[in-house]
Amino acid sequence: NVSAQLEKQEIWHKDRDHFMHPWTDFSTFKESGSMVFRQADGVSLQDADGKRYLDGIGGLWCVNIGYGRDEIAEAVAAQIRDIPYFSTFGHHTTAPAARLAAKLADLAPGDLNHVFYGCGGSVANDTAVRMIHFYFNQLGKPSKKQIISRKDGYHGSTYMAMSITGVEVDHIGFDIERQLVHHISSPNPYRRPEGQSLEAFCDEKVQELEDKILERGPDNVAAFFAEPILGAGGVIVPPEGYHRKTLAVCRKYDVLYVSDEVVTAFGRLGHMFASEDEFGIVPDIITCAKGLTSGYLPLGATIFSDRIYEVISEPQADGAIFTHGFTYSGHPVSCAAGLKNIEIMERENLCDHVKDVGAYFEERLHELEDLQIVGDVRGRKFMMCLENVADKATRELIAPDAKVGNRIADECQKRGLIVRPLAHMNILSPTLILSREHVDFVVATLRESIEAATESLKADGY
Ligand code: PLP
Repeated sequence: NVSAQLEKQEIWHKDRDHFMHPWTDFSTFKESGSMVFRQADGVSLQDADGKRYLDGIGGLWCVNIGYGRDEIAEAVAAQIRDIPYFSTFGHHTTAPAARLAAKLADLAPGDLNHVFYGCGGSVANDTAVRMIHFYFNQLGKPSKKQIISRKDGYHGSTYMAMSITGVEVDHIGFDIERQLVHHISSPNPYRRPEGQSLEAFCDEKVQELEDKILERGPDNVAAFFAEPILGAGGVIVPPEGYHRKTLAVCRKYDVLYVSDEVVTAFGRLGHMFASEDEFGIVPDIITCAKGLTSGYLPLGATIFSDRIYEVISEPQADGAIFTHGFTYSGHPVSCAAGLKNIEIMERENLCDHVKDVGAYFEERLHELEDLQIVGDVRGRKFMMCLENVADKATRELIAPDAKVGNRIADECQKRGLIVRPLAHMNILSPTLILSREHVDFVVATLRESIEAATESLKADGY
């Protein structure tokens, strides 16, 4: 239809000329522009030409309950009509902000009973850093400021969150806070030395954390930031015991443990929070965002312990309080979306569904290991990654300019599936409502697409 085509053209041009997209290679953008999506429903999206795609990346690891949920639209509209916004600083609140905080305190492990809201994951991590600095200052330990995190860890794009981030390419041309943040190596079992046992690999990584704390001095180290499974660094599942052992090291030196659950919370691994239920640890702080509203509206939260609350909520002799906040902290409309999202997840037993169909997804994806270039299939439930290599025995990479991740993603897209390219890898983080039939479609499409990409690599001399 002519008017739909004209609208597509109009959006394509305005987007290309004026909208600076996040994480985008603009060298190719000028010619190819963007795919315009116009509608989404359940597990899939429709582009401006009416072609449907199964969304294999859940928006961006976030549309956990799937698209097109009228109940969220209604809760949001009702909240806008009731009261769209009022600041929550000082002694003001709204029902959704208070109710969601209580709900998160109930769901979070241990004594993590207090919630500070922001607009996303980066801000949740920045908040955690300021909170930790204030906490140790209150305790008379102002030198305890340094942060340890890991290579391949991703914690966000604000200055502080990006400093904590350990994905190497993200630091090109960006001066990290070198005095404040120190990266230890990635706990990536696939890249461990030939012949090393998983147990020895785990102990080595844990020892590295302890060594780093000792090198910087326990009086200077405030916190360890870690995603339970490293997401944007390539879905890296640390070896068994790593979480418990790193927490024990932190406890030994009074270093706070921040579990960045921006991706892993709200069902992606079959639990509301993965720290305790999947990995057996109760951290001091959990940061979350994304699945908190299933991406329907922006919202992030820093959930912290009674112990931290008691210290940071006490004013000092000089009257100092924790002066931290955002205009949109506790935004009632986002909180209403979050509450309804959690209600839907609980009512539909989405975590049980993930334990069942997510396990099937994981199992079926492993079948792709027989393909020539698939070196590693890793992850858990609906958080998965395929690492493509030139040589499976040596784990040697395919030349970066071959853009194998993009080739596979493009082949998938032709066949109606969206997957994320990440350098030589492909990431899968679909909506959590996938059925077994959807899983079968994803796996069959990936197989065909990887085979086609392998042929194109050969044709291009790689
Ligand atoms: N932490 C993790 C583990 C993430 O994956 C992300 C985003 O992908 C963030 C933090 C940053 O969240 P946001 O993009 O909402 O600021």
